[in-house]
Amino acid sequence: MIQGSGRCHYHPERAGLGVCVECRRVICRECTTQFEGINRCASCLEKRLKALEGPGERREWTVGNVVLGLVGMALVWGAILLVAQAAAS
Ligand SMILES: [Zn+2]
Ligand SMILES: [Zn+2]
Repeated sequence: MIQGSGRCHYHPERAGLGVCVECRRVICRECTTQFEGINRCASCLEKRLKALEGPGERREWTVGNVVLGLVGMALVWGAILLVAQAAAS
């Protein structure tokens, strides 16, 4: 770390308050975000939030898949019952 670089990376006119744990840049109070109790700059928090959105989308996709699977199973069973009835009569 460069000593004496107590200036925000994004705001050179402001005093640096913390260091982003992701990119190690000095950030001011306004740039500091406390997400999950960890200091991050705004751009790194955005990346973190996007990474968190990933599994959420995959979960929705899985729920949709389960519904599709159930509908497909119901259709298959309906077809089997129809065939069984036709065979019986
Ligand atoms: Zn950062
Ligand atoms: Zn700043």
